[in-house]
Amino acid sequence: MAYSRNKTRVVNIGGVKIGGNNPIAVQSMAKTITTDVASTVAQIKRLEKINCEIIRVGVPDMAAALCLSKIKKQIRIPLVADIHFQWQLAVEAINQGVDKIRINPGNISKDKLTVVLDRAKARKIAIRIGVNSGSLKSLHQNRRVDKATLMVRALADYIQFFENAGFKDIVLSLKATDVPATIKAYRLASQKFDYPLHLGITEAGVAEAGIIKSSVGIGTMLSEGIGDTVRVSLTSAPEEEVKVAYAILQSLGLRMYYPEIISCPTCSRAQIDIVTLANRVYKRIMNQPQASWKLPLKIAIMGCAVNGPGEAREADFGLAGGRSEGLLFRRGKIIKKIREKEFYPVMEKEIKKWHR
Ligand code: SF4
Repeated sequence: MAYSRNKTRVVNIGGVKIGGNNPIAVQSMAKTITTDVASTVAQIKRLEKINCEIIRVGVPDMAAALCLSKIKKQIRIPLVADIHFQWQLAVEAINQGVDKIRINPGNISKDKLTVVLDRAKARKIAIRIGVNSGSLKSLHQNRRVDKATLMVRALADYIQFFENAGFKDIVLSLKATDVPATIKAYRLASQKFDYPLHLGITEAGVAEAGIIKSSVGIGTMLSEGIGDTVRVSLTSAPEEEVKVAYAILQSLGLRMYYPEIISCPTCSRAQIDIVTLANRVYKRIMNQPQASWKLPLKIAIMGCAVNGPGEAREADFGLAGGRSEGLLFRRGKIIKKIREKEFYPVMEKEIKKWHR
């Protein structure tokens, strides 16, 4: 099933077009100290290898801002500067040649923004207006209106300001740590504005908890046609963020990243070790660079005759387990019967055939 995307304008971020019918872009944020240029570039290069398409770096002070051109020269993907509080850092980031800046309207005054907008317009770079519930003053002053509505009101106010200044290369985000408020805010924003929306659940948390929160929140919005770029915020390595973002997009059929593995949860009917085999195949696939796959590729690993033959038949290749043995299917046809100890070597051989 293909989801119909909400219509948004196209904005160019250093050669990566977002919005409109362009693929939903995957972003991450460097977790190094920006002034440590070598470590920052090394991390970004690792992210480039796994298909991160836009990278943001924190710019907490002028020393960090002054490192941006050195970073930019050594990477391939568009560089975004994340600015809070000091408008001078935004101006310096633009001078350094970044492809986009992200500002938080909650903490930069509008009169100073005029200077930033003029400079960004002259350099033809986009600005993301990122409303974060945590830094929204009106949230603490107005308890009668819900968080999502207040976030969208703040956003509307800033969009108006940008448009009055003749600035339209805008990307929007409305992040809250709570999933329902974030979804509501994005729904409201997507009805009201046609600027591309950058999706995320901010400060989602560590590993599994953050992945679940992000998947539910971002997945819900994407399934409604909302969203043009995605960043999964996890308290872990940025590589994880990129993989999870692609997994969310792939699960909705919006981007293809890795082969799809269908494996049954196993139960008392299984007479083979599905858990070990499925995990081995999964690890094998995740260790293969994404660019080397011919996709789509669907692999089914099933425990018994209940759903096994049906799922295995529908996959590009699949295994339906029996008593310490299994039937191997390729594109709907039974190829052979194999013994359990041959499962992985045979799977490995089949997987290799799908490399470019
Ligand atoms: S396919 Fe068979 S082994 Fe796997 S969960 Fe279903 S019934 Fe159990």
